[in-house]
Amino acid sequence: MTTISNNDTLFARAQKTTPGGVNSPVRAFRSVGGTPRFITRAEGPYFWDADDKRYIDYIGSWGPAIVGHAHPQVVKAVQEAATRGLSFGAPTQGEVEMAEEICRLVPSLEQVRLVSSGTEATMSALRLARGATGRDKIVKFEGCYHGHADSLLVKAGSGLLTFGNPTSAGVPEDFVKHTLVLDYNNVAQLEEAFANFGDEIACVIIEPVAGNMNLIKANADFLQATRDLCTRHGALLIFDEVMCGFRVALGGAQELYGIKPDLTALGKVIGGGLPVAAFGGSAQLMSNMAPLGAVYQAGTLSGNPVAVAAGMTTLKLIQEPGFYERLGATAERLAAGLTAAAKEAGVVFCADAVGGMFGLYFSATPPNNYAEMMAGDRERFNVFFHAMLDEGVYFAPAAFEAGFVSAQHSDAVIDETIAAASRVFKKLA
Ligand code: PLP
Repeated sequence: MTTISNNDTLFARAQKTTPGGVNSPVRAFRSVGGTPRFITRAEGPYFWDADDKRYIDYIGSWGPAIVGHAHPQVVKAVQEAATRGLSFGAPTQGEVEMAEEICRLVPSLEQVRLVSSGTEATMSALRLARGATGRDKIVKFEGCYHGHADSLLVKAGSGLLTFGNPTSAGVPEDFVKHTLVLDYNNVAQLEEAFANFGDEIACVIIEPVAGNMNLIKANADFLQATRDLCTRHGALLIFDEVMCGFRVALGGAQELYGIKPDLTALGKVIGGGLPVAAFGGSAQLMSNMAPLGAVYQAGTLSGNPVAVAAGMTTLKLIQEPGFYERLGATAERLAAGLTAAAKEAGVVFCADAVGGMFGLYFSATPPNNYAEMMAGDRERFNVFFHAMLDEGVYFAPAAFEAGFVSAQHSDAVIDETIAAASRVFKKLA
């Protein structure tokens, strides 16, 4: 007798009323195959699906859950804020405090505007860059994902790669004719682009630690060259730290690399699991934003008081002494343990980590750009993914995604994961 799982039932129902049964494509398990797990609850490093199976969760809501799921202090702050009212459409003290805190923690920021998603943050930063420079062209890098705004949805990573189509349909040629797409970590190409179009380029937007074509770190000299070329040609440098902000270090990738961008986009961690994102830069640049300047951007739920309460509590928790040392050690322990387990089994595999982010690669060395990432053995990843899922370990359901640990992933949880991977690698060998 076959048992029908609650996940299967929910997925069948979901597909009737929601395209592909999901509200964000990469949740659909399209590249790994099978039925997505419908999650009913989460706590610490775990979540449970509709069949009440427990998983060690390594996506952490794709980044936000850095202090672990349902952290009691975050939940309490949300409950208290909710009792005072859900949304006002007028400014609050919480928004003031949050802007102050973000500007204090992120080296390049003097002012921020709060928005509700990473997409809004990058889209608005881009508009600001164009408005402030009076130029149209933008540079992005292949495999970097900056949300789903038209001009950024070109050769992007993440969910788009899952469908083998890194550029979305429905984006008119005219909208993207100003978008130059270059190879990540390639200084020569960037120099050439600036040599050809230097006085037309409004900005370069980059994930300084890329997490949407698996995990790929920018080389320090590449980032420095990007900074220098932008400065020399009067273009603005935008760090999209929606994923790596407050994730690879308290001050984000800009603190880690010691490089200051002109504009920064943030999201994920700063909402602590609720929708808060932000973009910002110097007070002078931000003075181009309405109501002061001519660059328009707005949001009904921007700076929502309940979301801000979750975000502020999360920002407090990540400043506890030793937080990032522990988080980094956790991700390192996982990466080293998985690499050793694969080696022992004779499987070509390696893993890498930076701060609380990690990458799993079915290749001998970590990739340096999109093409190298695509050369990895994705079929093997899919088999590995499902075998780990059976073991109760939930990695991102695509070979193109980074993974995340939280402060609640104890050494015991990591070691349980490595032991499971050991069994799986032996079967893969
Ligand atoms: N930028 C980066 C680097 C991201 O990783 C993402 C989402 O994964 C976004 C922007 C878009 O953020 P959101 O999904 O909140 O719109």
